[in-house]
Amino acid sequence: MENTDSWQFAGSLDAYGYGRLYSGNKEVKAHRAFYEAYEGPIPVGMYLRHHLPPDRCIGYACCNPDHQQLNNSPKRRIPS
Ligand SMILES: [Zn+2]
Repeated sequence: MENTDSWQFAGSLDAYGYGRLYSGNKEVKAHRAFYEAYEGPIPVGMYLRHHLPPDRCIGYACCNPDHQQLNNSPKRRIPS
């Protein structure tokens, strides 16, 4: 069963609408940090893509690991 809850990130968002966290003085993407916490390390060179359409979730500010798919392309925006 797919978990469709949106996990709205409560902190600051970057220019692309991704949630931001800081680890020391290093910026990390919130959705990557959540994914690694729940699913394990993201392989080197892989990216996460939020794969639910906008009518089902809030999109890039969402940190729900169930909504992220590993992808080998850094492409960000999917035309709606
Ligand atoms: Zn989502």
